Amino acid sequence: MLILGIDTSCDDTGVGLVRIDGGVPVVVANTVWTQMVHAKFGGVMPELASREHVERIDEVTVAALSEAGVKMSDIDAVAATHGPGLVGALLVGLLYGKGLAQGLGKPFYAVHHLEGHIYAAASEAELAPPYLALVVSGGHTHLFDIERVGEYKLVGATRDDAAGEAFDKVARLLDLGFPGGPAISRAAESGDAAAVPFTRPLAGQGGFDFSFSGLKTAALLAVRGGRYRTEDIAASFQRAVVDALVTTTRRAARTLGRDTVVVSGGVAANAALREAFGATDLRVFFPGRGLNTDNGAMIALAGAAAVLAGREVEGLSAGAAAYLPLASS
Ligand code: ATP
Ligand code: FE
Repeated sequence: MLILGIDTSCDDTGVGLVRIDGGVPVVVANTVWTQMVHAKFGGVMPELASREHVERIDEVTVAALSEAGVKMSDIDAVAATHGPGLVGALLVGLLYGKGLAQGLGKPFYAVHHLEGHIYAAASEAELAPPYLALVVSGGHTHLFDIERVGEYKLVGATRDDAAGEAFDKVARLLDLGFPGGPAISRAAESGDAAAVPFTRPLAGQGGFDFSFSGLKTAALLAVRGGRYRTEDIAASFQRAVVDALVTTTRRAARTLGRDTVVVSGGVAANAALREAFGATDLRVFFPGRGLNTDNGAMIALAGAAAVLAGREVEGLSAGAAAYLPLASS
């Protein structure tokens, strides 16, 4: 079975293909067009993002099909993100996907963007619930408990900035450029993670929430103080974020009786985070190369997870939604 997935939730036009082979989903194509038009504005311009998606979606789809060596008529199902994200941007991929599915006479699945991030770790992996999923991206730091595919219980979340957002803001403070995550990670390689004594926000509390805005302020003070090297601030900041994420997730796993954790979203590309999770007693799954930040293959993987779990949800009636919770609490 071949599933095509589309993500146009923000400024990346992503189309991917996943083949379900002997009960295991395998990514066979993952084509992403990253919009450059926003760079000069210092942030994503929603209207420009929609227009770029309209211009690119067809050629990105054709490129994904050719990457996998398949034809349009080989597709058995189509999945597309319907939220959360920029509504105009989401509409492009959602309507393109619905049109494709209807034209081919195949089923269509509307996928939540965070479900895509979670199942990004499911390619070529025997990943079955129950498990915890920590989504650490540009807009989210959410910890879900997943007992069954399609059922998400939110057990913790950031009270202020998302982890990726904190990386981006601190990188700007340190003049390291955008996106901040990879820039901080590079600078941290030659820094001392013990140089700046950042506190670990909420680490000693009973719940499973996160907080990164205090850390951002502490980084600002460290920069202004002029006592520390940029590399040392980067390394110490990264260590504090990683500690908070790993400590709280481990505590949640122990409390909830889970031994498996999926860590996904853009920040899951971070080498220090991967190493720290790898050193725990948890079974940890990460997305493979190219599957951490926004892409279409992760949406196809979410579609595949629904198919494999026998939860084929027809999505033709789903609209695009800027705000769309995956779970209440
Ligand atoms: P959301 O999914 O919440 O809507 P998004 O789609 O914009 O947000 P992603 O594309 O998943 O977010 O991730 C982008 C974020 O990941 C950015 O904040 C970026 O700095 C961060 N990031 C990317 N690579 C790394 C890395 N190696 N280390 C830390 N952070 C990283
Ligand atoms: Fe994302």
